[in-house]
Parts: sequence; structure tokens; C-alpha cells
Amino acid sequence: MNSAPPAPAPNSARSVRPFERRGPRPGSASRRIQRILRRPSANPTRRIKNADYFPPQAEPNAARVVPLGGLEEVGRNMIAVDVNGDIFVMDVGFHFKEEDDVPGADYTLPNTAYLEKNMARVRAVIITHGHLDHIGGIPFLMARFGNPPIYTQSLTRLMILKRQEEFPDVPKPEIVIVEVGQSVTIGRTHIKFFPVTHSIPDSMGVSIETPHGNIVITGDLKLEHDDGIPSERETKTWSEIGKDNNLLMIADSTNAEKDGFSIPEKRVQETLDEIIKTVKGRLIIGTFSSQFERMIRIIESAERYGKKVVTEGRSIRSNIEIAEKAGLLKIQKGTMVSAQEMSDYPPDKIVVICTGAQGEEFGALMRIAARQHKYIQFNERDTVVLSSSVIPGNEMSVQKLKDNLYRNRVTIIHYRSSDVHSTGHGNTGDLIWFNKQVHAKYFMPGYGYYSMLWCHARAVEQSGRPRDTIVIPDNGMVIDIEDGARINVHKQKVPSLPLIVDGFNIGDRQEVVMRDRQSLAKDGMFVIIASVNLKTGKLRKSPDIISRGFIYLRESQNLLNEARILIKKTIEDSTRNMNPIDLDYVKNNLTDVIAGYLFARTNKAPMVIPVLIGM
Ligand SMILES: [Zn+2]
Repeated sequence: MNSAPPAPAPNSARSVRPFERRGPRPGSASRRIQRILRRPSANPTRRIKNADYFPPQAEPNAARVVPLGGLEEVGRNMIAVDVNGDIFVMDVGFHFKEEDDVPGADYTLPNTAYLEKNMARVRAVIITHGHLDHIGGIPFLMARFGNPPIYTQSLTRLMILKRQEEFPDVPKPEIVIVEVGQSVTIGRTHIKFFPVTHSIPDSMGVSIETPHGNIVITGDLKLEHDDGIPSERETKTWSEIGKDNNLLMIADSTNAEKDGFSIPEKRVQETLDEIIKTVKGRLIIGTFSSQFERMIRIIESAERYGKKVVTEGRSIRSNIEIAEKAGLLKIQKGTMVSAQEMSDYPPDKIVVICTGAQGEEFGALMRIAARQHKYIQFNERDTVVLSSSVIPGNEMSVQKLKDNLYRNRVTIIHYRSSDVHSTGHGNTGDLIWFNKQVHAKYFMPGYGYYSMLWCHARAVEQSGRPRDTIVIPDNGMVIDIEDGARINVHKQKVPSLPLIVDGFNIGDRQEVVMRDRQSLAKDGMFVIIASVNLKTGKLRKSPDIISRGFIYLRESQNLLNEARILIKKTIEDSTRNMNPIDLDYVKNNLTDVIAGYLFARTNKAPMVIPVLIGM
């Protein structure tokens, strides 16, 4: 017997299942990992594992929508619209990594396999606004589907170009500037752009003409209103859209779990203005750099009350620079001062705008609160405004931030105590209003986790929309509207597993790598180094053991001694009568035995890595 047991076929259903341990099967998890470790690198011709459905081109009587990202999640937005034989791509976003999902990866991107497959028909990318979850994927993904021209408004263009500076090796995208109210013809298709209210200027929705009516995609939006009465601007925009024959509407669901109307940004600005005016002592405002409008208004208020502005955080500085460049903000000379110069002014003349209101470890606010900032130290006369809500998942870091802030005896004003934050996304009140204005034949909630999509769908249904006109989509779903009268959701999905950006690599989610990371994070590793005499099969000396993240070796001498004996016995038993000695076979055997032993002794399944040196 001198050959290793066969490894399971690559891409078998088993091999893509996440790491799991079902009941006490000693070493089974570890064995599975070992099998994967032995396998040659993933088969490059079969990149998409879970789904590789590619439907034939839509029939001429069908308008097709394929959401490629941004559903079942928030971020990574991308919707493909396939009409008149051409494909239009709405947004190319990315998403900061999910903690447990893809350990170690930097961020995830929409899966572009469908676009790659139909590259020749991809006519244009349309970017609705400049937030990273709508533009972040551009440097990584555009080349994959043929670098089509990007249509967007001027501020968004500046945001894209600014980001492009971080990727000097990626060719600059071709950007066509459009304006709201304008319509363009791309290929055979007329496309209109209309203004929407969001937390960044130059946000727009898109209306794409098809023979059976328009497909209206809102992008991120909320309603500008006064106590539920829409502003004149909104009424004008949306009644204009409502005049068209609208076939399908896809709208933002991010805040659909909240009833009533969203808090108008105007009220937030008024509250902040009042705070800037009245607070004695230094004022520190922590916010998101994506809140363009708010940062602009804060600077304007500071100027109004003769205060100086200090900015902390690269993204805030960079976005203020872009706002100036776009002509959205004209900062008076002498308003901006550096943190170093702060002490030259009385404290009640200082407003600091900074990042880190989510408790980000390296955010400016956290560094100041942890007394790690070179020039800014808090004291009890300071007031800190947390002008953001807590993003789900960040609760603990925000708690830590608040604790650290209070250790500095500062006064905190946050969104629960005062109207110092509103999001850029409409509540159900806003959403129902949009839906009625557009009165499209069909409706698809977009942008958000399933719970958000579902709440959005329920809200519009309760407001009178027939249930059978609503489709709740998943990523990768192929939705054809045939003859403008029938919805056909394909049974299979196009590939929609996120691509991941992992260090310098971009690729499909490497299940093997991710599972190793998960396993290492959970139970650590156990490395065995042994020299084997290739003639006799005996060990040259007692094996060395290195372990990380498994158990504290110094306090586990017994276990180590037993393990050494077992290693020696296993190797020497396996090599008995073997000629020539097959070290791979011995390794597999050793892994199984030791993994089983460690699990029996510790109830943990570290990754066992044997290194056998034949001499
Ligand atoms: Zn946005």
C-alpha cells in the first residue's frame, strides 16, 4: 500500500460548504481542511462555483432586469438592465468586508460574470451618485466588461476621478457628463436623468425607455418635505416622471423598516446651526465624510458665527476639497485652521469636523478620545456632537467611543437626544409617495437587505398596490417583463457570489482561503516538524511542535509529550515495510491521527500541518 487516498473531486458540493463541525467526529473538520490543502490550486477554468447560469439574450418583446449586487445586503450596488438588445449598468459599487463572512478580505464587489459573458452588448455604465457603494468598484471592475463609457453628473465625476488617483495603473474611465432633466440616446435607447434628494449633491435617478414603457430606477433617495408635504421641487420632478408610461420602478429600500417620513436634512442643519451658534467651549462634530451637504452647512454656519474650522480625517478633507472644486462651497480665507494652530484661538471659536463617529479604531474621534492625538486633547468644557446614527454591527465600537469620550468628561449630543442626524434614505412615508407618483405597472424594491425589501414591498402593498405587481428580487435573479404584461422570473440565477478584494488580489470568493482563515481564527494551528530516515522509516529525533492560537503550550506539557509519542508511533507504524517511503501518505495518516487525538483531548480542531523531512 503506497499511494495516498484519492482526494475528493474539486468543486464537489462538500468542498464549498463553510467550515462546520457537526457533533464529535474527531478530526473530521481538520481532515477536510487537510484534504483541501493537498488539493492542487483551484481549477482556473471553473471560476464560478455556485451558479453558472447564463440565459440567452432576452426576446425582443422582453425588458430584462438583472440585479448583480446591493440586494440581500447594503452596498455593492449594481443593476443590469437589458433592453432593446443593449445592456446598461446602473452603478458599480463595493462593500466593506463583512466581519465573519470573508475574514481578512478588504471588501467585496458585485459579480460581473453576466456582464463579461455579454460584454459586446454592454453599452454604458450610469452612476447615480458619488457614494462608494455606488462608485467604489469602478477601478476594479470596468475592464472586466470592456470599459464602457460612464454617464454621470459632474460632482460624481470628480469623486470617481479622485478615487482613480489611488489606482494609477488602471486606465482612466471615459466619463460623459450629463445633467438632470436631460435625456440621451445610447445605442437604440432613450435614457432620462432626474434629480433626487440624497445626502450628496448631484444624486439622480434614471428612466430607461423600452417599447412597453419606462424602467425607472431611483438610486438612493429620500423626500424633501415639510411635515410630510413634499417640497415644490419634488412635486415638480415626480409629477413629470409620472406623466410617462412607466413599466417598472426600482426604488431604495434602505430605510423601509422605518415608518412615517424621514427627518429632513434641513432640520438637522438647523439644529447643528443652533448648536454651533450657542455652544460655549470647543465643539467637535463627528460625522460621515459622505454627508456632503452637512459638512458644507457646518462650515457655512461656523463662518456665520465667526468660528474657525479644523478638519480631522483624510476622507473629510478630501471631500471638502472636492466640494470646493465643484463650486458647491466657497470657503472664506482664514476659516480653515490646522489642529496645530487651534490653541491660537479661544476655545469657543473652534469647530472641529472629524471622522470616526462609528467608533472606528483609527478614526480621528477615537484617537482623540483615547488621548492619542498629537494636537487635540479633550477637556470637560468640550462638546462632542455625534452627527450620525449607529450603523448595525458598530454598536460595540460606538459604545467604546462613548465610554472613552465620557472618560474625558466631555458633553455628548447624539441623534437620540437631538436631531443631529438624518440618513439620506426615505422612510415608508417617503417611499409610498414616490411609488404613487411614478405609478409604474410593476414595482421592485431595490437596495437593501431582504428585510428592508420586504418592508418596502409591504408598505406599498398596504398603500394600494396589487400584490401581483410586486417582485422582491435577489442578487443574480433574471427578471423578464414580457410584452409589458407578464413577469417571468427565471428559475436559475446568474452568478452573484461577491468578488472579493483581498490585499492586491481581486477574484471570486476563494472558499478554500476563507475557510482556512475561519478555521485558523477559531482553533488555531498545530505544526509538526519531523525528520524521517528514508531508509529505516525511523525518526531522527523527537519531533518539534509549533502551535499558534490553539492552546498555551507551556501549560500543556502532558499533552505535548503524549502527542510526540503518538507522532513517533504513527510515523514509524506507517512506514513499516514501506519501500520506498511515501512521505505524502505518511503525512495524511499523521494528520488524521493527530487531529483526532487533539480533538479528543481538547475538543478543538486546530489546523494540523505536518512537515516531514526525509533524510
Ligand atoms: Zn448613497
